Order: sequence, then C-alpha cells, then structure tokens
Amino acid sequence: MKIKKGDQVKIIAGKDRGKTGAVIKIFEETGRVSVEGINLYKKRMRPKKQGQKGETVQVPRPLSISNVMVSCTNCKQPSRMGHRMEGEKKFRYCKRCGVSQ
Ligand SMILES: [Zn+2]
Repeated sequence: MKIKKGDQVKIIAGKDRGKTGAVIKIFEETGRVSVEGINLYKKRMRPKKQGQKGETVQVPRPLSISNVMVSCTNCKQPSRMGHRMEGEKKFRYCKRCGVSQ
C-alpha cells in the first residue's frame, strides 16, 4: 500500500476527478480510501430525541485506490511514489523530484 493516512491525494477518475484532499481512512482489505470532502453522499441521521428532526450529514464514500494519486509534499504534484531501502529502513520517495517523505 503506497498511500498513508494524511496523504494529500488527487482524484484521477470518477465524478470528483481533479479535486484534491487528505486521506482520512484506508481500507486495506478492499483497496479503498476515504478522502476528505471527496465522493460525498448524504446520510440521514435518525433523530436522537423524539420530536427532533433527523439531520442529513455528508459522509465521504470510499473510493478505489486506483482512482487517486498521491501528491508529493515537496513538489506539490501528483506523482508516482517509489520505495527504496536505506540500510534497514524503507523509504518512500517521489519519482518526480526524488525527495523522501
Ligand atoms: Zn516530488
């Protein structure tokens, strides 16, 4: 999995194509991610008390990891991420500018 929670990603497919947002949740089993403000759907909340109106909240629906691309924190461009080993540690780096992150 090349995406981490908190990564800025750009949506490259679907109705929110072109938008960017931060990853808020990763579903490893299904290969999906939730991105802040992306692919929102309205969910009705039941009223907590009787006589109260149920409210509608907007919840991000997870989208396929293949529909997003990680944005580099250095060059701010959506780019492919590579991995390299430095000693025992594995680093992720931007294939565009080469900066580890
Ligand atoms: Zn970069």
